[in-house]
Amino acid sequence: MRKFIAILLAKLGRFAGKLVGKGSSKPGYYALKADPKILGKIKLPPYVIAVSGSNGKTSTVEMIAKILADAGLRVAYNKEGSNQIEGVATLILGECTLGGKMKSDVLLIESDERFARYTFSHFRPTHFVVTNLYRDQLTRNGHPEWVFDALKEGVKHAEKLILNADDPLVSLFAEGRENTVWFGCAKQPGSKPESDSVYDDGRFCPRCGGKMRYDYRIYNHVGAFRCPVCDYARHAPDYELGKIDLAAGSLVIRAGEESFEIPMENPSVYAAYNILAAFAAAREAGVPGEKIARSLQGFASHMGRIVSFALGDHEGKLLTSKHENSVSYDQSIAVAAADPEDVSVLVIVDAVSRKYFTSETSWFWDIDFEKLASPNVRHIVLAGTHYGELAVRFSFTGIPEERIAAVRSIEEAAELLKSYDTKKIYTITCFSDKDKFLNLVERK
Ligand SMILES: [Zn+2]
Repeated sequence: MRKFIAILLAKLGRFAGKLVGKGSSKPGYYALKADPKILGKIKLPPYVIAVSGSNGKTSTVEMIAKILADAGLRVAYNKEGSNQIEGVATLILGECTLGGKMKSDVLLIESDERFARYTFSHFRPTHFVVTNLYRDQLTRNGHPEWVFDALKEGVKHAEKLILNADDPLVSLFAEGRENTVWFGCAKQPGSKPESDSVYDDGRFCPRCGGKMRYDYRIYNHVGAFRCPVCDYARHAPDYELGKIDLAAGSLVIRAGEESFEIPMENPSVYAAYNILAAFAAAREAGVPGEKIARSLQGFASHMGRIVSFALGDHEGKLLTSKHENSVSYDQSIAVAAADPEDVSVLVIVDAVSRKYFTSETSWFWDIDFEKLASPNVRHIVLAGTHYGELAVRFSFTGIPEERIAAVRSIEEAAELLKSYDTKKIYTITCFSDKDKFLNLVERK
């Protein structure tokens, strides 16, 4: 009876939410209040795929969903990205019969790293994908090793793990267990054994604390690692990125004897890893390689991470980055620095988070702002509430002072950009601040 009431509550809540045009995790919240054990009582589909990690969860889940749907499977997944237990409960209960049986063939869950242990204490994923682990939302998540400990409790219930072989911390999830599938990247032209980031989380072995060596690095601590002390080393990947051609926007995935070339919409090594993870998950769920490659041809993310705009007679792109996540910022900085044209760059940090209050800005020191010293970056404007702290950080980059302006007001920053002779603009900021800028320009 409790089960029935909980399912009914979730369905009514979801229906009411749709009427007022709001998707939220409230229906799941009330259902869990009515029956805290409800998730363990639902008959789940044959495939339950979970995806977690610091970066790339949402786009990996979007890709897996598209590939599986193209292959004719009915996929239930948390589109709204509400990835804590209430959101997952809303998804599951909304997609099941009143008798408690899910109607889809696949349940696909984007799971928050810290909440996976609660969600998966009620049911087991058949496949658990971990994209990567690095510094992200320090005030909420703590250090990556802290996140590892939290996620470990969720991961251990999965039947099969699909892990990033190039991430030493992620690879540690496979310790002492069977049934792991690996994805990783082959050495790329120009990849070096040394770190070129402002910090190095790959310096020490996460297993024994010994000094780690790399044959090559793809970015930060991600690469072909090995510990000379305890022999902990990168596992040979079952799914491997061959050549990543950033200029042409394509990559090659090798799986056993097979090899596929796949185009990338917004080429970056980070995007390449997400595509690889999605490929591996779909292949493990039984979709043939050619079918996956075909589905990925037409993939366009719904996330709108890149927004084109016009400001006066200037053209620009807003690159959505995540505050408190240096790797996300580094991706955007790499795009601006690699542009063959002269550009201006605007960095806005106004509200650090839209979800909780924090004014903690130590993460500025993890970001490779030094790369904006590239000669094509003619002007840099720093704006928002934290413009002063940004200016302090930039004073340590060695970028000539005359190239940098710092103003609190975002309106004023836009006026400055308009006054420059560089016609191309990159705006780097987060979900929490992007509309404050986009409201001042003409979206394309
Ligand atoms: Zn070691």
